[in-house]
Amino acid sequence: MQDAETVSKDFIRDIIDDDLRTNKYQGRVHTRFPPEPNGYLHIGHAKSICLNFGIAQDYKGLCNLRFDDTNPAKEEEEYVQSIKDNVKWLGFDWEDRLFFASDYFQQMYEYAVQLIKAEKAYVDDQTADKIAETRGNLTTPGTNSLYRDRTVQENLDLFEGMKAGVFADGQKVLRAKIDMSHPNLNMRDPIMYRILHATHHNTGDEWCIYPMYDWAHGLEDSIERITHSICTLEFENHRPLYDWFLDALGVYHPQQIEFARLNLTFTVMSKRLLLQLVDEGLVAGWDDPRLPTISGMRRRGYSPSSIRTFCKRIGVAKFNSMVDFEFLEYCVREDLNKTAPRFMGVLRPLKVVLENYPEGRTEELDAVNNPEDPSMGSRKIPFSKVLYIEQDDFMENPPKDFYRLAPGREVRLRYAYFIKCTNVVKKDGKVVELHCTYDPATKGGYAPDGRKVKSTIHWVSADQAVTAEVRLYDRLFTIKDPAGEKGRDFKQFLNPTSLEVLSDCKVEPAVQALKSSDRLQFERLGYFCVDPETTPQHLVFNRTVELRDSWVKKQKASQKT
Ligand code: ATP
Ligand code: MG
Repeated sequence: MQDAETVSKDFIRDIIDDDLRTNKYQGRVHTRFPPEPNGYLHIGHAKSICLNFGIAQDYKGLCNLRFDDTNPAKEEEEYVQSIKDNVKWLGFDWEDRLFFASDYFQQMYEYAVQLIKAEKAYVDDQTADKIAETRGNLTTPGTNSLYRDRTVQENLDLFEGMKAGVFADGQKVLRAKIDMSHPNLNMRDPIMYRILHATHHNTGDEWCIYPMYDWAHGLEDSIERITHSICTLEFENHRPLYDWFLDALGVYHPQQIEFARLNLTFTVMSKRLLLQLVDEGLVAGWDDPRLPTISGMRRRGYSPSSIRTFCKRIGVAKFNSMVDFEFLEYCVREDLNKTAPRFMGVLRPLKVVLENYPEGRTEELDAVNNPEDPSMGSRKIPFSKVLYIEQDDFMENPPKDFYRLAPGREVRLRYAYFIKCTNVVKKDGKVVELHCTYDPATKGGYAPDGRKVKSTIHWVSADQAVTAEVRLYDRLFTIKDPAGEKGRDFKQFLNPTSLEVLSDCKVEPAVQALKSSDRLQFERLGYFCVDPETTPQHLVFNRTVELRDSWVKKQKASQKT
């Protein structure tokens, strides 16, 4: 699978090119995507997936899917499954290279023993709090633990005891013996193992000591013979430690490379925060279409190729920045414009009776399925005496710049006829029905006498219309960076009107042929998809994105200023 756009080079690919030139890894390129199965993946992970699997594709190398499951936590199985589904759905394949960090626990343990024997690791009895306290800070060196000079034999015995379950949680840790006055705080005797009497989703109760991220990650990369270990910027000052561990062991040594994580406006992108929204019922689950999760975007109707295009276009950089949510929507819209079949549907129906149309007659009119792609053909849509149009396509007292239907005014019904409004029926002051006449000579939408109308509106024939539920989504948050407000809970910024459910929408009968997750355009209303909750008796559509292109407008506006 390759996107049409040419692959643009970035600093990571430049490094790989250099390594290939110098034959650093014997011509191999081997990356990995290493999620921790503690939540569903989000669009930031999609960037990492596209980067790691994309590099493997470009260089005819390999990319592993590796679960970084060094932390025993609950419900991991569900997360593992969702992550596998998401990566596949995005269009990538790990073939037979699915790994779990927990499969390496024994090997990691043996490596730790090796470091103890080399006097490069020791068991410390201090509490985690005490260890943090004595670490010092940027201007003050840390202080050595009283236990730092234990003999090798004592350390080996204690570490074995830790593994055997002799000690309680938190009673002891294994630390690397590096330098308590190192300018990089990560190098001040970091913790390698902690005691945790917890059941692990993969290894059960076999282990009660669990490796820390910095210790484990490089080992995982080394064991899998990864060449380029790509991670996000916050690990930049962990790289000396990554290197130290591998050098101290004298094992195969991949290169860690850091890039800037993706941040998107009007959302949050940390699994910890997303979990709160899910757990507290503030959204309808991990696949809520308002969430930036891959499952949510999929349910909302985003296509995998639009997400890949987005990830490619935002590029790979060394500095953190915020990407406009509108740019993601732009990529989605661009893709759907080419691929989504058009239909007509009315969200808020207003009944229209054509006074001069014969009672009981039905015509079949031709409609184009996608003007962008003639190969998608055409379909028939029924037309009869009673129709529905959109409530806001009519105004009883229109202002000057309103060109749609109004008393005495003529408009075009898409693919059908010109109609003219002759009478307005009201109930309790509210417009409930329009009476119109149609001009039989304008079939197909053009007047033989050359007269023009100022607008074309969509409609659905009432007799054949199918009732549907439509879910409209707005931004989940009201501000650009809800997690970035110091001292404020991000949930305060949830948008109370991010979901609007319309239950009495009328759609043309042809949509009944669509299947769950199919994508479509309702003309003039936006792109939609069939929600998985749809049944033959109850159609449910999610609006993916509106048609209006605010991104392009915004770009133009910013160019002017
Ligand atoms: P979160 O903070 O959202 O939970 P994480 O970094 O803890 O993210 P992991 O499961 O550890 O999540 O990440 C798997 C991979 O995805 C890592 O290589 C990580 O660097 C990358 N990744 C995570 N978030 C982003 C992001 N916003 N942009 C780019 N890459 C990301
Ligand atoms: Mg994490």
